[in-house]
Amino acid sequence: MTELNKGATIGIFGGGQLGRMLVQAAHKLGFKTHVYDPFDDTPAGRIADNQTIAPFEAEAAVEIFANCCDVLTYEFENIPIKAIDHASQFTNVYPDKKALQTSHDRLVEKTFLRDKADTPVVNFAAIETMNSLSEFVHEFGAPAILKTRRFGYDGKGQVKVNSPRDVKAGFARLGGTDLIAESFAPFVREFSIIASRGIDGSIACYPLTENVHKDHRLHTSIAPADDPQNVSDEAHAITNKILKALDYIGVMGIEFFELEGGELIVNEIAPRVHNSGHWTQDGGCTDQFEQHIRAITGMKLGEITLKHVVKMTNLIGDEILHVGTLSQKPNTFVHDYDKRDINPGRKMGHVNEVISKV
Ligand code: AMP
Repeated sequence: MTELNKGATIGIFGGGQLGRMLVQAAHKLGFKTHVYDPFDDTPAGRIADNQTIAPFEAEAAVEIFANCCDVLTYEFENIPIKAIDHASQFTNVYPDKKALQTSHDRLVEKTFLRDKADTPVVNFAAIETMNSLSEFVHEFGAPAILKTRRFGYDGKGQVKVNSPRDVKAGFARLGGTDLIAESFAPFVREFSIIASRGIDGSIACYPLTENVHKDHRLHTSIAPADDPQNVSDEAHAITNKILKALDYIGVMGIEFFELEGGELIVNEIAPRVHNSGHWTQDGGCTDQFEQHIRAITGMKLGEITLKHVVKMTNLIGDEILHVGTLSQKPNTFVHDYDKRDINPGRKMGHVNEVISKV
C-alpha cells in the first residue's frame, strides 16, 4: 500500500478511550475518522467524523463500514475475528488478522511466542480437567496461575494456585471455560515496550516503561525506566523478533517480567496502542497514537527520542473528579476520556506528570 492521502478515512473498530485518542491523532494528521461500535455515545464515536452503531457480528454493517474507509484498525483485541476477516475483503486492516488471532487466546499467544518468535515465556499448559492442573503443579511446582484463555484483562479470569491443596478450589472457580496454567514468574519488576512497525518494515520502539499495578490493574507507568540490570538491548531484540514474526503493522504493547539476575520473560502482547504508552503524549516525542496512525497509513514513522521523563497515572472511578486540582499542578497534563458514567474500577482518564528532562 502506498501512503494514504490526507483526507482519507481511517476506520476504527471500538469506541473506547484508545479509539478516542486514535481519532484525535488521526485528525491532527489531516485524516477523517469513522468509528464502529455496538453502542451510541462512546468516547471515540462522539468525536469521530462518522460512526456506525451496530454489533460486530452484523456482516452487512461491517461491509458498508469497510467500504467507507481507506484503512481499518481496532482499539481492543476482543473484536470477533470474523468481523476482521469480513472487513479485510473490502479494505486493508492493520494490524492484520494474524496478530489479532494470536493475542485472542493466551494459549495460542504463548505457543506462538515460544515456538515462532523464539521468545522466553513461562512454563504453560492447556488445562481441561482438574487432573491436568494437578499434573501441571506437580511438574512445574507452585505457585501457578490459572487463567481463562480468552477475554481476560486487568487480572480478570485469574486464580493463583499457591500449593497443590489449592488445585481443587482454583479449578472450581474457573472450570467450565478453556483454561491455561502458567508458572508464577518471580519478577522483580514489570516493564513494557511500546513498539511500532511501518508498512515498509521500519521499526521504532520507545524506551522501557516501568509499570506498577494496583488491584491487578495498571496504576502508574514511568519512562524512560532505569535499567539497573542492563536488559534494554535484549528486550528490544525480543521485541523486534515478535514484530517480524507477525509481519506486524501498527503499534504494539509488549509486557515483560524482569527476574532477579536480568532474565526476561514476555507476559503478553497487545496488538494495539497500550495503556502503558500514554506517557508518550507528553514525552516530547511522537505519541503512540500518532505513531499508530502513521504506521497504518503508510507514512514514515515519527521521531521517538523523548525529551522528558514522564510518569503516567491512571484516573480510576471518581478519581476523575480531581481533574480540576490536578491540572493546576505544574508540569501536569490531564487527559479526560469524557465518559458519561463514573463507575468504580472504570478507567476515566490519566494524568501525565513531566518529572525532568531526559
Ligand atoms: P495478565 O492479565 O496476564 O496481563 O496479568 C495481569 C497481571 O497479573 C500481570 O501484570 C502480573 O502482575 C500478574 N501475572 C500474570 N501472569 C503472571 C505470571 N505467570 N507470573 C507472575 N505474575 C503474573
